[in-house]
Parts: sequence; C-alpha cells; structure tokens
Amino acid sequence: MDHSWQKELGNSLRSIADINLFFGTNLTIKAPNSFSALIPLPLAKKIQDLGPSSALWKQFIPQDIESEHFQESGSLDPIGDSDFKKTNCLIHRYHNRVLFLPTHSCPVHCRYCFRRNVIDTPKSLSKSEFELCLEYLKEHVEVEEIIFSGGDPLVLSDSKIQFYLEQFATLPNIKFIRFHTRTPVILPSRLNLSLASVLEKFQGRFHINLVLHINHASEIDQTLLENLRAFNRQGVELLSQTVLLNGVNTYPEDLALLFKTLSMNRIKPYYLHHPDRVSGGLHFYLPIEQGRKIYLKLRSMLSGWMIPQYVIDQPSGRGKLPIFNAENFEFSGKLLGLSGTKESHTES
Ligand code: SF4
Repeated sequence: MDHSWQKELGNSLRSIADINLFFGTNLTIKAPNSFSALIPLPLAKKIQDLGPSSALWKQFIPQDIESEHFQESGSLDPIGDSDFKKTNCLIHRYHNRVLFLPTHSCPVHCRYCFRRNVIDTPKSLSKSEFELCLEYLKEHVEVEEIIFSGGDPLVLSDSKIQFYLEQFATLPNIKFIRFHTRTPVILPSRLNLSLASVLEKFQGRFHINLVLHINHASEIDQTLLENLRAFNRQGVELLSQTVLLNGVNTYPEDLALLFKTLSMNRIKPYYLHHPDRVSGGLHFYLPIEQGRKIYLKLRSMLSGWMIPQYVIDQPSGRGKLPIFNAENFEFSGKLLGLSGTKESHTES
C-alpha cells in the first residue's frame, strides 16, 4: 500500500518558527490569532520557488495582518453552519443533501478558510457520533446525496473512507457521494491506486464526484493531472471550485488560465465563490462589485461551458446565491430584498 502522502503530510512546517527558519522570514504573528500554520514540505518548496508575490505564498504563509483583522468585524461562522448542524458531524441545509464532516484535519491551512475556527481541533469522530448521524439519515429519507467535507475528507485513511461508504450504502435513499477536497492539489500522491480501488468498489452503488478546491493555475502540476486522469477513467466525475481572493486571483487573465486548464483536463469549473467575511481572513475580502466586474470580463474571455457559477454564501446561513445578475440584488454587508423566486439553493 502506498503511504507516501502520509509521510509527506508528517513532514510539514507547523509553526511560525518553522516557517521563519525555512523561508528566512521574520514573521511575528501572535495571539489572538489561533489558526496554526500547516504547510507540507513539497508545497513549501514550491512556494519558495515562486516567491512572496506568488498566489501560493499569499494563500498559505501566515501574515501579521491576520492578528490585526482578528480584532475587527468578521465572523467565526460566516456561512452560518452552526444553525444547520443536526449532529456533531452533519449539516443539513438543503432539502436533499447533507454535509458530512468526518474530520477537522486538513492537508494544509489556507489562511482565508471560512472554517478556520474549527479546523484542526484534534477530536476525531467517535462511533457514537457516527451512529447518531446514521440515525438522522434513516429518519430523513429525502436526503439523496452525502457531501464529505470537513476539514478535508481525503486526509482520512482509505479504510476509514471505505467504512463510511459501506455504512452509507446501507441507506437505500443515498444515491450520490461527493468529496470536497483540497488534498489532491497539496499532496497529489494521495490519489493513489489504493484510494482508486476503494472508490471503484462503490461505483455501481453511488454516482461519485470529486470536487477539487483550486484557486490558481500555479497549483496544478503534471503529477496532479496524471493522477486525476486515472480517477476520471474509472468513472469518478471531476469538478472544481475556486474562491475569489483579494491579491491572489483577481486578475481575470489568471482565472481564465485556470478555468481553461481545468476544462482541457476534463475537470468542470463548478463554482467561483465570493470570499466569506471570516475573522482573521478579512484581507482576502473584496467588494462584490469588484467581483462582478472580474466575472463580466471572464465571460468575454471564455466559452460559456468553461465558466463556473459565481456565488456567495449568505451570511444568514441560508445557502448559496448566484450574484452575477446585479439588478436582482442589493448588497450592503448582507443580502437584502430576497424573494422566494430569486433565492437559489444550489448547494456547495
Ligand atoms: S483545505 Fe479547505 S477546510 Fe482545510 S484549511 Fe483549506 S480551505 Fe479550509
């Protein structure tokens, strides 16, 4: 069995001191910022090669500005997860699908993360917590799709993933499985034969989607594309979601290159997310009007099928809303003037 991804994850920079030593920086970031650093060494080397002005550096190297912003506005739960939490590991926001959170661990700590307040809390999912989740799903037969999220579900071992899939396969109403993951981009070696064979066992039972989180073309390399091809060949559908981030990917040319590269490699650009107003990550935020201008430009640069839907998570916790049709909505820190017909629950 190939455990190289676990070794790579074990060899990570995990503190500001590690980062200062590796990159020769002099970061002094202090409490109250509580979101620790985590950068596996292969990614650290890539960041080092690309330098401080790169999209990778800005996404993963902690900045002193995080401490300052932590004191200001912004939320610890910007998309209202807690209002829809049904059990410790289950969020039921939309009628026919649930988010399943089997882990709070990730392969990297993205500095803009909207779940940064819960990431890396060490507790793993207990047997009794999972049983409560199964009980809930048995009672809610309207649920057809389970979205593995977290944290990042692909940091779980293959045997754990297989166990959860076996349990969900006992529920006749569950037809679709989705994995929301950043792991393949950070540790391409995670897409190994062993994981492929686990998913293959369930191909006849579920329709399986892998939704990759990719924000910039510099995150994609040949190893990732080759490994993804193997999963695509065995019938796993590949999608991607991107977060629009101030200072990282706000040039339309950068996003166009990303979406073209994904499309050429049979990965469907699915969502472009407006960033959330998360405490400690407000420096990544940009006005919605700026996002709309970027999206408008993208529409002139790309074929329609290469363009993801541009959405925002409503701060009320009421789900995703397409935000390109400017005339339909007014934005002033929160979304106003919603009517039943304009509201969209299109899921993450
Ligand atoms: S991998 Fe996803 S959940 Fe984890 S820190 Fe990054 S954005 Fe957050």
